[in-house]
Amino acid sequence: MSFEPLGLSAELLRAIADQGYSTPTPIQTQAIPVILEGKDVLAGAQTGTGKTAGFTLPLLQRLSKPTGPRHRRFVRALILTPTRELAAQVSESVKIYGKYLSLRSTVIFGGVSINPQITRLRNGVDILVATPGRLLDHVGRNTVDLSKLEVLVLDEADRMLDMGFIHDIRKVLALLPPTRQNLLFSATFSREIQSLANGLLESPTLIEV
Ligand code: AMP
Repeated sequence: MSFEPLGLSAELLRAIADQGYSTPTPIQTQAIPVILEGKDVLAGAQTGTGKTAGFTLPLLQRLSKPTGPRHRRFVRALILTPTRELAAQVSESVKIYGKYLSLRSTVIFGGVSINPQITRLRNGVDILVATPGRLLDHVGRNTVDLSKLEVLVLDEADRMLDMGFIHDIRKVLALLPPTRQNLLFSATFSREIQSLANGLLESPTLIEV
C-alpha cells in the first residue's frame, strides 16, 4: 500500500517521497486518517514504528487549513516530549515533513539558554515542540500563549510520567482551551496513563501496533 489513499495533501506526499518512504507503517496507516478527521487518539506505539510521522503528517495537514484570523502570538499545536533529545528529533521531523508548507515551528527544552527561545516564540510559532519543565518556565515569563491551542500531542507519555512530569503536564493542561484535539502516544499502558487518558481524551480512537 502507498501513502496516496490516506488523504494527505500533495505537499505532504512530496515531502514523504523526498524522504524515500514508499509504504506507510502500520501506525501511520491507522493513525493518519483518524487524526485528519480531527478525532482524539490513544495510541500504543514503540519508537521505531514510524509514530512520529504518524502524528506529524496529519497534524501539519490540519494546521495548513486556515481557521480564521492568524494571531501570531498564539501556539496552534503543542507536542510535549519527555527529553530534549526526543524534542529535537520530533522538531526535525516537523521541519522535514512540513518543508512545502508555510507553518512556523520551533523547539524549546531545558539545559540551554532561554533567551534565543524567547526571541523565536516572539516571532510567532504555529507548532511548538517542548519538554514540560522549560515550557512552564516560558509560561511563567508570559512568553508563550497556549490559550488558542488546536491540537495537543503527548509523545512517549509513559516516559513523561516515569520522569515525574505529571504535575507539569497537569499545569499545562489547565492552560489549554476546552475544545481541542488530543493525541496520546505511549509504549505502555499503566493505570496512571489510563487515568491521564481518561481525563484528557474524548471518545478516543484506540490504535495498537
Ligand atoms: P519513529 O518511530 O517515529 O522514531 O521513526 C523511526 C524511523 O522510521 C525514522 O527514522 C523515520 O525516518 C523512519 N520512517 C518513518 N516512517 C517511515 C516509512 N513509512 N517508511 C520508511 N521509513 C520510515
